[in-house]
Amino acid sequence: MKTKVIRLASRPQGLPTAAQFQFDTLDLPATGAGQVLLKTRYVSVDPYMRGRMNEGKSYVPPFEVGAPLAGGVVAEVIESQHEALPVGSVVVGNLPWQEYILSDGKGLNRIPTDKAPVSYFLGLLGMPGLTAYFGLLDICQPKAGETVVVSGAAGAVGLIVGQLAKIQGARVIGTAGSDEKVAYLRQLGFDEAINYKTTPDIAQALAAAAPAGVDCYFDNVGGAITDAVYDLLNKHARIALCGQISSYNDTETPVGPRPETKLLKTSARLQGFIVGDYFSRWPEGVQQLTEWYSQGKLQTEETITEGFDQIPAAFLGLFKGDNTGKAIVKVS
Ligand code: NDP
Repeated sequence: MKTKVIRLASRPQGLPTAAQFQFDTLDLPATGAGQVLLKTRYVSVDPYMRGRMNEGKSYVPPFEVGAPLAGGVVAEVIESQHEALPVGSVVVGNLPWQEYILSDGKGLNRIPTDKAPVSYFLGLLGMPGLTAYFGLLDICQPKAGETVVVSGAAGAVGLIVGQLAKIQGARVIGTAGSDEKVAYLRQLGFDEAINYKTTPDIAQALAAAAPAGVDCYFDNVGGAITDAVYDLLNKHARIALCGQISSYNDTETPVGPRPETKLLKTSARLQGFIVGDYFSRWPEGVQQLTEWYSQGKLQTEETITEGFDQIPAAFLGLFKGDNTGKAIVKVS
């Protein structure tokens, strides 16, 4: 059996280009004892993959040059010699970017096909949903009546953060990069939404949207938006430092205002986190998100690109704001 595979061709300097992705064909051996053959259905493209393209120590090892790129994948078992994974099972796991994958089943989670579209296990009911759930509820801990700001609000994590904050009774302000995204956030129930690309003065716009100051900030992007939010922090504000996408393609260490004095004066708490820190509590998170989804309290959105060959383009689109909600590639 032959499969297409996408390998990391070279490490990018700055914004990656198509040249970083090498399409290749791989021969897969026959399915052996204890193994399954998977057919890829959906591939998740995520901003953290940009970090893995760099050399150097991080919370996950870098991708190796010449090796397949990998990430969240939903796949169907089409051949099985594995007791717990019969043919027809749908699984999610961290898997290589291939159309077909041979696996020993380790690290694969079987997912229900009757609860929600299976692609949601890469978004709302998967890693991004859990990031929103633990980052907001564990670190920010918003209370009714408080003001929550979320940057990158119309993305996979951000739109769930905003809705979870509304469930907690907070006032929610989101920033996003287009008028369509802003309209979508208002439709979702965000109290205020700001297009950071067209607003002439983001600090002024945020101050106007948050007249009572900011109690919680869920930071997905960093940079100028974050600098502006720090000026609005209330006493005992909580900041969940989730992502810094505005600097992922920088070739030099970003510089900006030093926030320490602002944190000191407001007794604010800034905490970085990785969703994997909460691994032992993932079942709790999936259960609660599934419940809110089935009760109609949580909605989601996907930007689905069709075709295995489009995976690199969908990934690069994350840095141009092409996606509203979860960026997914439908492979089959
Ligand atoms: P998104 O679905 O939000 O996709 C990325 C979005 O980022 C784009 O659509 C774009 O939206 C925005 N963006 C791109 N470049 C910039 C920029 N220069 N300045 C501001 N916004 C930009 O991705 P996710 O929801 O999956 O991830 C959101 C953040 O959370 C990322 O930083 C990611 O690394 C982080 N993350 C962290 C995790 C953790 O464990 N700590 C786990 C998962 C994600 P727009 O049109 O608004 O510009």
